[in-house]
Amino acid sequence: MTNNFSRTLVTTALPYANGPVHLGHLAGVYLPADIYVRFKRMQGENIIHIGGSDEHGVPITITADKEGISPQDVVDRYHSRNMDAFERCGISFDHYGRTTSPVHFRTAQEFFSEIERKNIFVKKKERHFYDPEARRYLSDRYVVGTCPVCNNPEANGDQCEQCGTHLSPRELSNPRSKLSDRTPELRETLHWYFPLGRFQDQLKNFVDSHDDDWRANVLNYTRTWLNQGLKDRAITRDLHWGIPVPLDTDEAQGKVLYVWFDAVLGYISFTREWAEKEGNPELWRDYWQSSECRIINFIGKDNVVFHTLMFPAILMAWNEDRVGGKYSLADNVPASEFMNFEGRKFSKSRNYAVYLGEFLDRFPADTLRYSIAMNYPESKDSDFSWSDFQNRTNGELADTLGNFIKRSIDFTNSKFDGELPYACTGEDWDALGIDWADSFEKLDQAYEQFHFREAASLTMQIARLANRFLTESEPWKVMKTDREAAGKTMALSLNLCYTLALAWYPVIPHTSNRIYALLGFDQSLDDAVKKGDVTWHMARSPQLQKGHKLHKKSEILFTKIEDGDIAPELEKIERLLEEVRSQEKGESKEELKIKPEISFDDFQKVDLRVGTVIGCEKVKKADKLLKLLVKVGSENRQVLAGIAQSCSPESIMGKNVILVANLAERKIRGEVSQGMILAVEGSDGALHLADVEGTGVNGKSVQ
Ligand SMILES: [Zn+2]
Repeated sequence: MTNNFSRTLVTTALPYANGPVHLGHLAGVYLPADIYVRFKRMQGENIIHIGGSDEHGVPITITADKEGISPQDVVDRYHSRNMDAFERCGISFDHYGRTTSPVHFRTAQEFFSEIERKNIFVKKKERHFYDPEARRYLSDRYVVGTCPVCNNPEANGDQCEQCGTHLSPRELSNPRSKLSDRTPELRETLHWYFPLGRFQDQLKNFVDSHDDDWRANVLNYTRTWLNQGLKDRAITRDLHWGIPVPLDTDEAQGKVLYVWFDAVLGYISFTREWAEKEGNPELWRDYWQSSECRIINFIGKDNVVFHTLMFPAILMAWNEDRVGGKYSLADNVPASEFMNFEGRKFSKSRNYAVYLGEFLDRFPADTLRYSIAMNYPESKDSDFSWSDFQNRTNGELADTLGNFIKRSIDFTNSKFDGELPYACTGEDWDALGIDWADSFEKLDQAYEQFHFREAASLTMQIARLANRFLTESEPWKVMKTDREAAGKTMALSLNLCYTLALAWYPVIPHTSNRIYALLGFDQSLDDAVKKGDVTWHMARSPQLQKGHKLHKKSEILFTKIEDGDIAPELEKIERLLEEVRSQEKGESKEELKIKPEISFDDFQKVDLRVGTVIGCEKVKKADKLLKLLVKVGSENRQVLAGIAQSCSPESIMGKNVILVANLAERKIRGEVSQGMILAVEGSDGALHLADVEGTGVNGKSVQ
């Protein structure tokens, strides 16, 4: 299946430059991609890894407004912070771009223009909230108001943080602009939509052709969308931060490309930038526009349909009616499940997370890479816990791998003057009790099929067998009576060290480089792999010759993690969990806000009567108030009610409403109100009058 390809392009989901990446991101996308890419590089394949920052979208402008800085400042900060954290973690991008770059602007605008030229987009007029004071259209996140579900008065226009309900701004009651705190108005504006439905059949064929090689979760998410029928999706927004719609018309003024349309095209622009860097500006076409290149998008499960439907549809729209310059679609989209943190979802908004940069300030990258590889959320959610991290580092990395390497190197240095004392034969190698052919066939398959947890386990199994071989051979005892036998043990052990340096390179490359240096090589393993001096195949047979010289250095590869080292982290978790728990408690109380208890006597004091609305008009200069004339028995009462946004005067004429008849008179906006009528707020935010059906009820008491 992979044999038809001579090149591979790996892309990783663009992290959003509005915050630091955390361990969940690393586990789902960047580490698995890096492991795969390193494996392939070692096999001598032509493979590049392209990533970068997603730097547009509303949350970035919100952060900028909040901090009083420019959106550019925000993205500069997180772009460099995340790039730095990735580098320290050993995530080896061939290029790490950013969507604010000129090449990306050009690429995204080219795509828009090409699809616009073919008349594929659909244009729709719609009404959006507009803040006249700030003179801006308000995207969902710029509107706050009262949640129709839980009454949280600070719900965002896209989602209520308190109850989690997804909302649209017009569902909020009392909507306010985040910019001016004013009530926004609805204004008409024109937007471009991408008609996904037009590509429904093509997309279905594309997905069906990967029935055998895509993960079940990817196929399932995608088919759910396909089965519902694909709808038009807006690709423009009224926003001042983003890539301008490249049209010279009034309609296009002030509009930018919606971030989902622009971000996925980053993969292409960043490959272009990489090609320029390589001194061959057209080289990107060998990856994007060639049937010989295999494209793999590593993503998290929350991004599936963007990569299996929307991005392919954009490319299909570009390719339509073209003779040359067609783009290839992804060959695979390995989407991970989520990695949780101490049993709970990572949450940036609640600060319940471990950020990659902070982690690496405290612990070495390879301990993290190993621990995450062993917990890779391949087909179900997994968990990162500090105790698991400590156990794996101490028991597996330090006691097994580190211990074996150190004993092999130190003993050879001290007893054999740092020189390989024996020429290992294939027979000696096979007698170690490791089935090399079988082990590496399994390893190769695990890597090819993105089973990274299995790959790491299999490699640790080789380290265990090596460690046991050295322990059971007891060269330190044998040495006293049979120097030659001890020498043979050490030669085999050092060759096992070499095998492990290579075999571990995809997962823990820093350690592999250190082992390789301890074995006496001057060139780094990274360089050796790059030049092709070292290849994956060399790991399965003895490579170090008799007389090979070590550097006569000693090194502890892994420092054990003491309880005291992780105690502050555990305390921090406890604190965070407490905060999360108390937030949740607050939320469940919020559902029914019952006022303090009253006595039956108190209730008896309220005189509720049925009245009939016989007159109704709007109150000037008060957009919420209606002035009602309500007939109660033989009396006519004037009542002012704040229901104008939910009820028209015509709709309530003649209704039998419930009136608090003995409420003290008061003046509202210069008008007397003699009583109050009962209404209920529905989950849509609208007020519904409590009305009574039937005849002959006027003036009667409500019981
Ligand atoms: Zn809510």
